[in-house]
Amino acid sequence: MIENEKHPLNFIETIINEDIKEGKNAGRVHTRFPPEPNGYLHIGHAKSIILNYGLAKKYSGKFNLRFDDTNPTKEEQEYVDSIMEDVKWLGADWEDRLFFASDYFDQLYEWAEKIILAGNAFVDDQSAEIISEQRGTPTKPGIESPFRNRTPEENLDLFRRMKAGEFQNGERVLRAKVDMASPNMHMRDPVMYRILHAHHHRTGDKWCVYPMYDWAHGESDYLEGITHSVCTLEFEVHRPLYDWFVNQIQETDYRPRQIEFARLNLSYTVMSKRKLLELVKERYVNGWDDPRMPTISGLRRRGYTSESLKLFADKVGVAKRNNVIDVALLEHSIREDLNQKATRAMAVLDPVKLIIANYPDGLVEEMETENNPEDKDAGTRNLPFSKEIYIEKNDFMIDPPRKFFRLGPGREVRLKGAYIIKCEDYKLNSETGEIETIYCTYDPDSRSGMEGSKRKVKGTLHWVSAQHAIDAEVRLFDRLFISESPEDGEDYKTNINPGSLKILENCKLEPSLKTVSPGDKFQFQRLGYFCVDLDSTAEKLVFNRTVPLRDSWAKMRGK
Ligand code: ATP
Ligand code: MG
Repeated sequence: MIENEKHPLNFIETIINEDIKEGKNAGRVHTRFPPEPNGYLHIGHAKSIILNYGLAKKYSGKFNLRFDDTNPTKEEQEYVDSIMEDVKWLGADWEDRLFFASDYFDQLYEWAEKIILAGNAFVDDQSAEIISEQRGTPTKPGIESPFRNRTPEENLDLFRRMKAGEFQNGERVLRAKVDMASPNMHMRDPVMYRILHAHHHRTGDKWCVYPMYDWAHGESDYLEGITHSVCTLEFEVHRPLYDWFVNQIQETDYRPRQIEFARLNLSYTVMSKRKLLELVKERYVNGWDDPRMPTISGLRRRGYTSESLKLFADKVGVAKRNNVIDVALLEHSIREDLNQKATRAMAVLDPVKLIIANYPDGLVEEMETENNPEDKDAGTRNLPFSKEIYIEKNDFMIDPPRKFFRLGPGREVRLKGAYIIKCEDYKLNSETGEIETIYCTYDPDSRSGMEGSKRKVKGTLHWVSAQHAIDAEVRLFDRLFISESPEDGEDYKTNINPGSLKILENCKLEPSLKTVSPGDKFQFQRLGYFCVDLDSTAEKLVFNRTVPLRDSWAKMRGK
């Protein structure tokens, strides 16, 4: 990896470069992503996947996907499946290296016996409460367990009986014998195994002792030949224990190394899996892939592309200190990507009928229009134009202010890709008082792209031909939380935005959208980026708004 101006090294790359220079692990780079299958992945995990996979790619190394499935009570196959789908979608290829920590239960058990025989682990008969009380505080040393000095033989016998199912949950644990006076609380004789008579999603009822995270994690890295075990900052204080456990089993020069970086936090967003699960279970959202969720599946359904998440991860960079990233940066990234890729289309979300009095009855003209001005290869399509069209209700005002460059009595606008029209009259609904029909005339010499179309007017409106329009439902999403940091304060749920979903049922789309499929993405002219939702069918089209066009991030940066 060579530094250049466009890609200054992040601090992890600097470490890897040094390791390679020193010839550590024969210059290999091997990373992994180790999710616990107890929920769906979120944008923070995406950041970690993109980072770990990116490092493996840059150094021509390898990347593993490993499920950290050491906790049988919270883990489910549904989560395993969704995680694999999401990692794949992000383009992180684990090739044939899909692993489960549970695959290593036998090896871990064998090593535990070895550590017991070396006198470095013991079986403790005390309850979890007592063990916790004896741990002390960061400023007060802990108290050694009265069972700490059992002989290796006695420990081995008890540990084997734990495994054989002779004891109840919580009756005994296996603890590493490290140092109860260590200033690092994690080094105070941490638990390695607990008894749990629980069914495991992969090992079934084979085990009733399960390894703790710290014990299983480093050893799994070791078994897989991981060189750089990248994780988030909260594990920094676990690192001495990670190293201690590796020391117990290391046999050659090869050694994995833990490196911590700052987890991704986003404004207006809750990221903890426990809280995301709560939002799903208590039906604040419609499932893990609800487009308002910060989950990868939610973002995908919302219309985010994997490329946009990579752009975002790149902009965020790799930090050593925790911070909060403005969610506007994420929205900026999808606009940047879709501006290049999304086909433009005409869609009227809140329609009002507009009749062009001097346009010939029954005439339909085909207006050729570009599919994407940012992509010359995207081609063109024809938009049918006729006497009756729809425009947005809010593009018309009865008594508009001077700077309203849209339609009002006596005013002129251009219909995008078509003619200049002038508002001659309007009709209100007798009951609601709302605008019902707008009457205009058009200037036949003003057709876009034609001779004589040079005449300029200030405003341009999007439209669809009424007789050709197709119906659709459009879902508008707002932030799920009204507070910038929803987790501050008593209960994050009090910060839920009650107006986070607005459904528009009577939208009118240009006819070319008739044959779309879920996932297809468009820029609806003047409105934003939209994608076809999973609920969409040939009978009932459903679109999601990914983001509106306005880019507060670019604005902030003065772009
Ligand atoms: P929990 O909320 O249950 O603690 P977790 O978010 O830590 O879960 P894991 O499945 O343990 O979930 O995470 C897998 C990997 O993703 C870990 O290496 C973790 O450090 C990383 N990760 C989790 N959250 C973030 C985040 N917000 N930003 C970057 N990486 C993250
Ligand atoms: Mg975790």
